[in-house]
Formats: sequence, C-alpha cells, structure tokens
Amino acid sequence: MVTFATLASCFERLEATSSRNEMIALLARLLAGVPPDEIGIVCYFVLGEIGPGYSEVNLGIGERTAAAAIALAAGTDPASVEAAARELGDYGDVAVRLIAAPAGEPLSVADVHRTLSRIAGASGPGSADRKVGLLAGLIAAATPRERRYLSRLAAGEMRLGVGDMTILDALAEAFLGSKAQRPSLEHAYNISSDIGHVARTLREEGLPGVRAISVTLHKPIRPMLTQRVARISEILERIGSPVIAVEEKYDGERIQAHKDGDDVTLFSRRLTDVTGQYPDIVRHVRQHVTADTAILDGEAVAFDHETGTYRPFQTLMRRRRKYRVSEVAGEIPATYRVFDLLYVNGDSYLYRSYPDRRARLEEILGRDKHISPADRIVTGDTDGITEFYLACIERGLEGVVCKSCAEDSFYRAGAREWQWIKWKSDYVPDLSDTLDLVIVGASAGRGKRAGTYGSVLCAAYNHEDDLFQTVCGMGTGFSDVDLSDLPRRLAGARVDRQPARLMVNPQAAPDFWFAPRHVVEVLGLEITESPDHTCNWDPERRRGLALRFPRFVRWRDEKSPEQATTAAEVAAMFRRQREV
Ligand code: AMP
Repeated sequence: MVTFATLASCFERLEATSSRNEMIALLARLLAGVPPDEIGIVCYFVLGEIGPGYSEVNLGIGERTAAAAIALAAGTDPASVEAAARELGDYGDVAVRLIAAPAGEPLSVADVHRTLSRIAGASGPGSADRKVGLLAGLIAAATPRERRYLSRLAAGEMRLGVGDMTILDALAEAFLGSKAQRPSLEHAYNISSDIGHVARTLREEGLPGVRAISVTLHKPIRPMLTQRVARISEILERIGSPVIAVEEKYDGERIQAHKDGDDVTLFSRRLTDVTGQYPDIVRHVRQHVTADTAILDGEAVAFDHETGTYRPFQTLMRRRRKYRVSEVAGEIPATYRVFDLLYVNGDSYLYRSYPDRRARLEEILGRDKHISPADRIVTGDTDGITEFYLACIERGLEGVVCKSCAEDSFYRAGAREWQWIKWKSDYVPDLSDTLDLVIVGASAGRGKRAGTYGSVLCAAYNHEDDLFQTVCGMGTGFSDVDLSDLPRRLAGARVDRQPARLMVNPQAAPDFWFAPRHVVEVLGLEITESPDHTCNWDPERRRGLALRFPRFVRWRDEKSPEQATTAAEVAAMFRRQREV
C-alpha cells in the first residue's frame, strides 16, 4: 500500500524541480515502490486525473464542488473561499490556509481514489450536496500537505508540469532499466490512451504484456497528426512515395468513431468522449457503416446542403454544449467526412498501408450526404496537387492533406510524421498578393466557351524598356457573366497583329491580339521561371518569369496599362518567395 502522504511529498519535490531528468528520476523511484493495484492510480493522480484521460470521471468534480467542500471543511462560506482563491490563485493553498481541523488516520492512495471516484460519479437528486459532503470529509481528514494536493486534484488543477511522456520515461526507467525503452511503452499508450492500464500491465506482466495491448473498442486511439512544409513543391519529395493521395482538408472537429454493433462512442481530438454532442453522427455511423465493429477517423463538419457550402468552424462549435443538444443539432446538422479506418471486425488496421485502409473503408462505408469517405485524388505530380488544392479552396475548404501511399504508410497513432502533410491557404504568401496585369491577347473559346474566349494572355509592364512582357495565360476565376461579356468588353482594344510594345514568345502567341488597355487584378499561386513568358526575359538562359495558377479577381478599369504591376515587382516577388 502507498500512502497519499508519500505521494504528496513526491509531488512537492516534483514541483520544486525544473529539470526534466530529475522529474523522471523522482517519478521512477516513486513508481518502483508502488504495488500493481495502485500503480495505475498513481499515474492518473500525477497527471491530475482520476481515470484515463478520455474518461468522463475526470469531469465529475470541478472547481465549484472543490470550493464548496473547502468551505464546509473550514467552517466558512463559499464566498470567502472564492475570495481567497482569487488572492492565492490556487485551491490547494486556500485549503491549507483556511482549514484548521487536525488530520485523521493516514490516507491510502486506493482510499482516496475510491472516494474521488464516488464523488465524481454521484448523480441524481441531492448529488451536489453529497459530492460536497464526501469531499469535505476527505479534505478534512488529510494533513495540510495532503490537503493541498487533494484540493488541486478535485478542482482539476494539479499542474505538476509532468506530461504523459515523462511518466512513460519514468516507467521505462523503473521497470525496464532505462528511459531509452520508452518507445516500447509509447506504442501501447498511443493505441489505448490509458496510461494507468499500461503501467499496471507493465508491473504485472512485464514488456510481453505491454506488447500484447491491442486496439480496444471504446478506448480512443491517439490521432495521427500532420506535418507542414513551406512550399507546395516540397510535398512529394518529403512524403517520398511515387504517388500520394491528396484529400480534402475539412475545418471542423476531429472525431474518432467506435462502432460496436449499435453502440457508438465518439471521441474528440483531445480524446474526450463527445458522443452526447453528436447524436446525428452516432445515427449515421450506426446506419451506414456496414461492418459490425469498426473504428473510423474523420472530421465532423457543418455542411449546408441547401447552398452546397461548408459552414465556418465556429458554427459547428456551437454544438459543443451540455443543454439543448438535439435542438441545436437540428439547426446545425453535422456531416461526418471519414478519412481513415483503424479497426474492423476484430482486426486492427493500424499496420496496414493507407491504400489498404482506404480500400476497406470504401467497402464498409458508402456515400451518403451525411457520411462518406473524404474526397481525394491520387497523383504523382505537384501540378496535380495544386489543381486539386485550388478546387478545394473554391469549394470553401481549408486546403488539402497529402498522404503517403507507400507500403509502410501505417497509421502512426499519436505521431506527427512526414507521411501526412497539410497544405492550407494561409501558407501561400502570394495568394493574398495580387498582381495587376494587362490583357494583350486571348485564345479562342472551345466547347462550353464557344463564342467567347478560352483564356486571356496577361502581361506586366517593364518600366525600364517601356515594354509589356507576358506573365501568364488566365482562364479561371471568371463568373459566367464575366466570361460571356469578355468579347464585348475587349472589343475596343482588339488589333490585327502583335502590338508594338509587346514582347511575346512564339509558343505563347495567342489567337487574338489586344492593344494594352485593360487591366485586371489577378491572384496567383507562385512565380516560377519559365521559357514561355517574357517577363524579365534573360536572353542567355532563355527564361522569363511566369505566374502559376492565375485567377481573375476583378477589372481594374481605373488603372492605366503603365500603372500595372511592373516586371521589377514580379522579380522582387520571385526573390521574396525564395526566401520563405
Ligand atoms: P491542423 O489542425 O491545421 O493541424 O490540421 C490537422 C487536422 O486537420 C487534423 O487533426 C484533422 O482534424 C483535420 N483534417 C481535416 N481533413 C483531414 C484529412 N483529410 N486528413 C487528415 N486530417 C484532416
């Protein structure tokens, strides 16, 4: 048996050190002496919790109950406790200052845990008073040092500065000889999210037992995270597989769904149980996932089916509530976009490749308007990524997540590695930096664009040489009205041959020419060197600068062609981009 006093004095020492190594050593010494039935509890307490991080038991007490209990034990009113808490900033110190009662029998860790669990779990009529009474009894029976930590534990503000990885290091040091052994424990923790369970198993069965810990329904798996890069062109190389999947990136709430027959549990990214907040997602998973048991990873989004657009993240967050859940669910229905499959019908899928997981996901989940696999493409080149990315932005999405399709593209629970790379609109500096360009040519429209122009040739102004130099051909961003209006709008500038001050390469020559007159604002993705365009033409290297993925923003009728973005400005943007 370990006394709570032993724990409290270790906590005091942990608080006094700022060295992580010393923390690990202190914890390792403590844990080495704890019997199997208490070691899990000690781990929870060190983290300031009563049970595994995902368990609702951790939410069952809270500040208000703690304050009322301290008041009861101290024989004062809750207002005085609140006032002292404002002054001292901590319920632990308040309890020590206000409670004078002498301590009773020594408390064991197991006793404290039993009582705290009872308090957290109490519900029904009169439960608030019962919670306060039980907690006041516990705090009153403690020594001042124990009181400090009991009150902090109950109020949910332990703040020892110990993280889950520190405890895993300490467990490795205590039972496996060195913290270098942490990875063996980390995997079990990543798939069970229960540090107490890992500690207990290690203490009782050693490493073989820990290795046998497997994915379990209703225990959340720590989510795999994404990396980021500075340039879209780095993505393929970083991921390193010949082809990658580019998935839509949804800006909603990460949800891991565990389906166990009709019993569905939902966990948030922080692994809290959010089943109660998404009754609609529970229903969709039950109805549309054909496997008996499965664990899905995906994003809950608020999709407006009437307008076909995604509603902002803040709208969805209004679903995070305790009361009027179903009413608000009706107002803001959630759609579940599923991007991974971690377990199905008794088998863990964590060590299957992403293509295999995805294929199986598509077998057990069809397309419904409320739940479906994430939309994606598979590509091997940066232009493919860029095009899909731009189409996503157009649909109001945040960006894309690029994923390895290699044989070892396993689901790495809890890890942030180069297998998943996100690319969001806010990483693209030039996307917000528009250019004002002059229309100097156009290609004939075909198919849907018959009768108007297919794209327009745009140029920057080279101030030194008083020349217009081409930068891009632009065919996207126009509304239907803009498009059909193009011939009329440009008619007055139309000329029969290449205008005098225009420098253009033969391969970029358009079907129709325009005298430099009309200025348009253009949004681009990046500036690259190109043999096609003449902006800042380098005769030796036979290269100019080009704007990639240009999109029409609006007409700039108030600008003269000589007020357009200059070639020197384009060159400066190109240089800046390289410095990012
Ligand atoms: P961020 O929150 O910007 O770090 O981006 C990572 C988050 O994007 C993940 O935790 C998911 O919640 C979310 N996400 C949205 N769509 C996807 C997707 N297709 N694949 C993976 N994560 C996604």
